Amino acid sequence: MSFDPEKISEETLDKYREYVNPSMANLLKFGGFAVPEKDAYGVYIRDIAGNEYLDCVGGYGAFSLGHLHPRVVQAVKDQLTKEALKSHYFMSTELADLCELLAKVTPGNLQYSFICNSGTEAVEGALKAARVHTGRPGFVSAQNGFHGKTFGGLSVSGREVYKQAFYPLLPNVKNVPFGDTQAMAEAVDNTTAAVILEVIQGEGGVILPPDGYLQEVRNICDQQGALLILDEVRTGFGRTGAMFASEHYGVVPDIVTMAKALGGGVMPVGAFSATAPVWHSLFDKNPYLHSSTFGGNPLACAAALAAIQTTIDEDLVNRSATLGGKMLQKLQEIAVKHPEYIKEVRGKGLLAGIEFSVDDFAALVITVCGKKGLLVAYSLNNPKVIRIEPPLIISEEELDRAISIIDESVSETAQLIAGIS
Ligand code: PLP
Repeated sequence: MSFDPEKISEETLDKYREYVNPSMANLLKFGGFAVPEKDAYGVYIRDIAGNEYLDCVGGYGAFSLGHLHPRVVQAVKDQLTKEALKSHYFMSTELADLCELLAKVTPGNLQYSFICNSGTEAVEGALKAARVHTGRPGFVSAQNGFHGKTFGGLSVSGREVYKQAFYPLLPNVKNVPFGDTQAMAEAVDNTTAAVILEVIQGEGGVILPPDGYLQEVRNICDQQGALLILDEVRTGFGRTGAMFASEHYGVVPDIVTMAKALGGGVMPVGAFSATAPVWHSLFDKNPYLHSSTFGGNPLACAAALAAIQTTIDEDLVNRSATLGGKMLQKLQEIAVKHPEYIKEVRGKGLLAGIEFSVDDFAALVITVCGKKGLLVAYSLNNPKVIRIEPPLIISEEELDRAISIIDESVSETAQLIAGIS
């Protein structure tokens, strides 16, 4: 029987309608993306129809090393010949090595780590650790912040549209404007276990903290005896041109959450790291107070160890800073050409956002880019912003090609909108 991509696409779309998510099936069909992926390598994804796409969505930040980085793949293959998952009866050298490496690369004195399977689980663990350490119930987080979609992560996230269907969420959560020191000072008190913030809001539309903001938040936490949790699920491991984005701002958290790039684009891995005092509160009375069957499994640890080591050996943090600076400048040149449609271009390292001033412009640009072979991302908490998150291994030529496709796509969308209005 001959291979028929159209038939496979139709059948897969039907299964999405019947068994996965009917409304997502309609959205994919509407956007022209109702075709299955076939394979991916480096900065490219191919669909089963043979089209190749330059991937600047990067799995929402998971593909900092691109797809199937050979070192991470090899590490996972080697581990598979030994043991995939643990019995939990004995110790794990892979887990011990990964936690040791995290202690070295995370900011400040975050000595201990718990390895889990996703970003939202890392946030759950961090919130629990903050509660048990402080004995306080409350959390303060930022409007338009994004911390995942389990109950805890959702509770501290800041966009109502994803929360309202699930109330009651965690009580004692205050949500204040990101960047507003006064509002933060008013919200944090002696009932606050922790403030949780992204260093740079990703799903909120690549919002950078104003100068001095994070230091002020740190001071407010210290004055009130609250912990500071920085969520670096998206920004960790070189994405913003520093190993952790908090380094740009000279702020050290009590707990940091990580995921995405930690798995090297090969395994799902999350983690939270904290100071020794926080860890003693979490585990001294009961080493199983927080646990996970799959969290910290040898395959995941092997992938994470290889991913971090590759990031260091290939100097990807500096590469992200250098390429990111060039990317931002070129995107700003595009903005100058379209002052009526582009409100702002923002970014740090290889995390950039273009904010449009017209509704639906971002969605149209994403679609046009897709048709031209470039994948860029929609921002869940700020639909007027497209995000560009290329793998840190992207070549300068590939990045230039991505930027010219964005340039063309913005111009074509502007013409389309001008024609309609
Ligand atoms: N925290 C941040 C800052 C994120 O960007 C995300 C996901 O985009 C999460 C948490 C949740 O991660 P996951 O989707 O792996 O649960």
